[in-house]
Amino acid sequence: MQLEQETLAAFLDALKKLDTGFAGLPAFDAHAIDQKQLSEVLTAAAERLHDNYPYFHPLYAGQMLKPPHPVARLAYALAMWINPNNHALDGGRATSAMEKEAVGQIASMFGWENFLGHLCGGGTMANLEALWVAGQLRPGKKILASTQAHYTHNRISSVLQLEFESVPVDSEARMDIDALRRRLEHGDVGTVVVTMGTTATGSVDPLPEILELRSKFGFRAHADAAYGGYFTLSDNLGANANAAFSRITEVDSIVIDPHKHGLQPYGCGCVLFRDPNVGTLYKHNSPYTYFSSAELHLGEISLECSRPGASAAALWATQKLLPLVKRGEFAQRLERSRSAALALYKKARSDDRFVTAFAPELDIVVFAPQAASISEISAQSRSIFAAAAQRGLHLAVADLPVTLFSLLPHSVRRDRETITCLRSVLMKPEHLDWIDRIWEILMSATDATHVIRSATNTIG
Ligand SMILES: *Cc1c(COP(=O)(O)O)cnc(C)c1O
Repeated sequence: MQLEQETLAAFLDALKKLDTGFAGLPAFDAHAIDQKQLSEVLTAAAERLHDNYPYFHPLYAGQMLKPPHPVARLAYALAMWINPNNHALDGGRATSAMEKEAVGQIASMFGWENFLGHLCGGGTMANLEALWVAGQLRPGKKILASTQAHYTHNRISSVLQLEFESVPVDSEARMDIDALRRRLEHGDVGTVVVTMGTTATGSVDPLPEILELRSKFGFRAHADAAYGGYFTLSDNLGANANAAFSRITEVDSIVIDPHKHGLQPYGCGCVLFRDPNVGTLYKHNSPYTYFSSAELHLGEISLECSRPGASAAALWATQKLLPLVKRGEFAQRLERSRSAALALYKKARSDDRFVTAFAPELDIVVFAPQAASISEISAQSRSIFAAAAQRGLHLAVADLPVTLFSLLPHSVRRDRETITCLRSVLMKPEHLDWIDRIWEILMSATDATHVIRSATNTIG
């Protein structure tokens, strides 16, 4: 059996416990459900769901995808029997309190106690709020982010009608600090987005140097830690990432995605502001949402209105089981992911058939097969990707600037500006034990594509 089911017994116990909380109500006949029909439809849905990569398995080592922790899955499902809405206390008293506790624990992880923050649909919505606040506080000024920042910042800026500019990156995909300084000297910059773990390669922008520039130029520093944020708990980072995470407490706003490394189902992002006074920017008068409670609600500090209380229940339960502390089990899981990335990187680095970009800063590895030209390398990356998938190993491909591959031999013909390479996100703690097996399959896939290539060469 591949899909975990042992925890379902605990779920039924919890559901019964939840039921006792409503025991005082008069009995009622629920609208009838045809069990047979339901079962047929559900089975059909299970069949449809076969058409997915096995995200839960260690041999899925491609994109940023993995199932939530069982406790998150079950707490989410439990809350679905009530379906609370964290838009307002009327819609979800318990889950609003759980959201505040869970978000407070995330803020604590970054060293913030007196802050403003809440959950939202994901990293995109969270960044939208952060840049919306930034735009209100620095009207008419530009938003800067690196060329390797998530593409959402450019699009969000356009939604908010804020001007956006990209800053070049260095050879390790981090924001180029000299380029940033030169751009700041031109003036008109309101906010700098600092990516704490880029989506493509997990590179961490040089936050200490950016903060130094902030004290001179006075922009807002927004940390997009959607992917990398939790690595602040990890004990095995390199010097640059360590230095950056140790200063994250000084930024003005932070975005982190519990649905990426926080073991949550999709639909769980989080935005945090260091200054709780930004809450006044959200002010609105809803004539119908809040009549019964005087306290400040989550709905008053969020751009989204209806939001799943179930997300809060899931996050709360997960952080109860796996607290966000250094050297705890949660932190150790991240450390294993990072060790797995270093192990895979080492294998690719010491194999003549591959060229690596740079040492991973988090748990993402990018590497490419050696060939005579960038187009050949790119074509081969795609062939290896497909051959590995046929053998049950699922990697990803990414298009990256050739400049990130500084180890590429000079003899390689630069006939393209971007290189299609192989990318592996090693998000699961199990990955560390599977690196040898992953490498074995990768070797077999690479051999197979080489055989096909030499055969084609002979014919051609
Ligand atoms: C994933 C990601 C986003 C977008 O977040 P979603 O949760 O996919 O909406 C933004 N920034 C970074 C750095 C990311 O990794």
